[in-house]
Amino acid sequence: MLAASAALLNIDVVVLDVGHNGPAKQVVAPRAPQLAHINGSFTDPEKIRELSAKVDVLTVEIEHVEVGVLEEVESKVPLGVHPSPFTIRTIQDKFVQKEYLRKSGCPISDFLRVDSTVESIRAAADKLGLPFMLKSRTQAYDGRGNFVIRDLAQAQDAIKALGNRPLYAEKWVPFVKEIAVMVVRSRSGEVASYPVVETVHKDNICHLVFAPLRSRDPSIASRAREVAENAVKTLQGAGVFGVEMFLMADGTVYLNEIAPRPHNSGHYTIEACETSQYENHLRAILSLPLGSTALKVPSACMLNILGASSDLSEITSFSEFALTVSGARVHLYGKSECRKGRKMGHITLVADSDAELSKRLRPLLERLPGGHD
Ligand code: ATP
Ligand code: MG
Ligand code: MG
Repeated sequence: MLAASAALLNIDVVVLDVGHNGPAKQVVAPRAPQLAHINGSFTDPEKIRELSAKVDVLTVEIEHVEVGVLEEVESKVPLGVHPSPFTIRTIQDKFVQKEYLRKSGCPISDFLRVDSTVESIRAAADKLGLPFMLKSRTQAYDGRGNFVIRDLAQAQDAIKALGNRPLYAEKWVPFVKEIAVMVVRSRSGEVASYPVVETVHKDNICHLVFAPLRSRDPSIASRAREVAENAVKTLQGAGVFGVEMFLMADGTVYLNEIAPRPHNSGHYTIEACETSQYENHLRAILSLPLGSTALKVPSACMLNILGASSDLSEITSFSEFALTVSGARVHLYGKSECRKGRKMGHITLVADSDAELSKRLRPLLERLPGGHD
């Protein structure tokens, strides 16, 4: 999606990813031999060095990269690495991220360091109460890396499930909704936020995103945008950031985590906002004027298309059905293999009212591969 946005602005993109035919590589054909894509892992130092020698600015779409090499090449790439390797390093380790955000004055619920021992988990339960969330500090996504400790008898299972990754514990947050805000940060540190959205997760994976936030109290949205903007202001480097938050019954907002890149909760911006998160990411890292983040439709939602099995035809036939729904736009990612729980694409739905949106969404949910409950 970033590559598709770049193509519209005549911006050449060189992609580092495994395989010759990954999703981004399908979107942009190199315009010159020196712009050929690179086959390799974004954790391979040599491949990152090779990429850095070809580009004017280097950016990432995933935070689990080899950040030491990004620090090394930062001063050699003409327009630098954005977001900054400092920001990526801070965010990569969720415990370091939380410490940084707490020190910066962001609203964070309680958390503490734990070792992978039953005694340490017991001590965490004493301080945080039960249930609490045990989290892997690194390499976490889609909730893989989280374990809810409801009872101390689960301590050993949790250590086993989370492997030998470093851990920390978070106090349980009894939120009423999960919300998110995309924030774009220019190279000079100016920030602009997108509307607040509600994110609905299923099995820890983002399922639906609704924009704008449905709420009778408009101060909630302005507070959430302020929390998100303030958090991103404390970071370094340009680009878009996805800020995940928890909304409490009394209207309090807690920050959950920040993604230093375009984010699933911002896919809706392609159809529903004046400037998509992808275009604004490019504008930010290239010092182009930032575009308006305003909604241009009254009501929008995004539905992730997750694999239900290895059968790709389920995805194809669902997508063909979606083409019959007014206001629906299908995005398939060109992944060659389908797996249960894998993000294969998404649908953005727009409408003139929330009621019309719900009406359009219903038949899609009914036919979603794997069901919707
Ligand atoms: P992502 O795919 O968003 O990067 P992740 O693996 O980094 O996910 P988190 O965002 O930390 O994981 O947590 C996943 C989900 O678990 C959250 O969206 C929320 O539903 C729930 N969760 C996380 N932390 C807490 C908490 N402290 N209390 C209650 N629920 C939580
Ligand atoms: Mg995460
Ligand atoms: Mg998350």
